[in-house]
Amino acid sequence: MSISSLPTGTTIVIRGGRALLPDGDWDQPEQVDIAIADDRIAGLAAAYDLTADAPIEVIDGNDSLVLPGFINAHYHSHDVLAKGTLEEVPLETWRLYALPPQYPPRSVEEIYARTLLGAFECLRSGMTTVQDMLTLYPYEERHLEAVMAAYEKIGIRVVFALQYADRKGLETVPFWKDVFPPELRPLLTTAAEPERQFDLIGHFEQTCLKAVPRPRVSWALGPSAPERCSTGVMQRTIELARRYNIPVYSHLYESRGMALQARMTLSDFEGRSIRQLAAEQVLDPRLNLAHSVWIARDEIELLAEHGAGVVLNPQGNLKMKCGIPPIRLLQQAGVRIGLGCDNCSCSDAQNMFVAMKLYALLAAISDPLPGPPQAALALRSAMEGGADGARLGHELGRIAVGYKADLMLVDTRDPAWTPFNSAARQLVHIEAGRGVKHVIVDGKVILRDRQLTTIDECAIYDAVAAVMPAFRRDFANISQRVAKLQPWLDQAHGQIMAAELDIDRLAPRF
Ligand SMILES: [Zn+2]
Repeated sequence: MSISSLPTGTTIVIRGGRALLPDGDWDQPEQVDIAIADDRIAGLAAAYDLTADAPIEVIDGNDSLVLPGFINAHYHSHDVLAKGTLEEVPLETWRLYALPPQYPPRSVEEIYARTLLGAFECLRSGMTTVQDMLTLYPYEERHLEAVMAAYEKIGIRVVFALQYADRKGLETVPFWKDVFPPELRPLLTTAAEPERQFDLIGHFEQTCLKAVPRPRVSWALGPSAPERCSTGVMQRTIELARRYNIPVYSHLYESRGMALQARMTLSDFEGRSIRQLAAEQVLDPRLNLAHSVWIARDEIELLAEHGAGVVLNPQGNLKMKCGIPPIRLLQQAGVRIGLGCDNCSCSDAQNMFVAMKLYALLAAISDPLPGPPQAALALRSAMEGGADGARLGHELGRIAVGYKADLMLVDTRDPAWTPFNSAARQLVHIEAGRGVKHVIVDGKVILRDRQLTTIDECAIYDAVAAVMPAFRRDFANISQRVAKLQPWLDQAHGQIMAAELDIDRLAPRF
């Protein structure tokens, strides 16, 4: 074995781990020493000479896999405290629980605690970056500052967007106008549709896009969904995204109802949202469309042509009765695919191992014919796809010299890894997250031996416990409101499911 000298400035060496290199063997990865200098990967070598008396930290990588940190490419921190509160419910009903504007304003303490807790869970599952598409309602500057302070404190990387829209729920869901009596209609809006008199986009540009950069924070834009945003809002969004070269995240065709809404209202565009986005010059490589469950084949081709991507969230799609995205069609068209874990109230777990496994399994039934190996594709989506979608593919999602040192070590001294037959398949189909031992973000060890180094874990649990009585009381009130709407919600959902929908049915989306 040849011995290499350490690169200048090395602060950490991960010694002897089996590393998932971009073009390496993902079944039996080779052992590689990884040198980290400041926030970057400074060198890769078969073995570094560690005999010199240099002040470096050596992390033992023996019996470990080393891989790039996962990128949770679709996540909302606003309902972290609602994990485990709901059984399966249709999406249109669920949104009334997840984003009710009738909540009393949240305390700074609650927002800080929930942001920390969500980030902590992400780190434990090997995520080093989260794309937080956050609804703050009513918007208060101190709430945004609490979110930023929590992310800075815990040390995770964030691609941050505020979620906004300018059309109310009643106008955007099929049959709601017919079904609901007028007195109940005000209860159908959500907090993703903020006060129209407040220019949230302009405020975001002034206070975030034009402000001094924050460590480990990059900005994005979050129009809630094409049917919830006017053409003016979508065009303003993409214009800003181009000017600042930042990504855009939006929701597309998460449910059958969202596809039906497009068919019923977009007669100028053959009932297709993607055709409308293309015609309005909004389809762009910066655009990431979460879900895309009910996307049609011709729309997939348009996405590929314009370089726009999708972010799939299989956990939430199943629990919200949305269906299965056409994974194989998206892969065949070469559409960029990231993976996310979405809201805590619909996906419950911020666990990329669960997301990858479901993705690989659903791919198997999204096309009846045999296809390419899915485990490696799931991993690439969780790492490279998410990084590319965030426009950070030049520095995140891969183990390569010059890239950010955002890495995790997975302990392979575990029944899940014995015998060690394939890194890719065992990561996707067997590992559930308990093996994540160390997590490094920006060159700093944030999780060491499964423990946070940046903040006392007990302080997070205590902070959450302190805010839960108020949250539980308010969530119970919201649940009572939604329960009153249930007969009409069920009636509208029945009509949505019974309506004709023009879509090819190769994939069993329901
Ligand atoms: Zn979402």
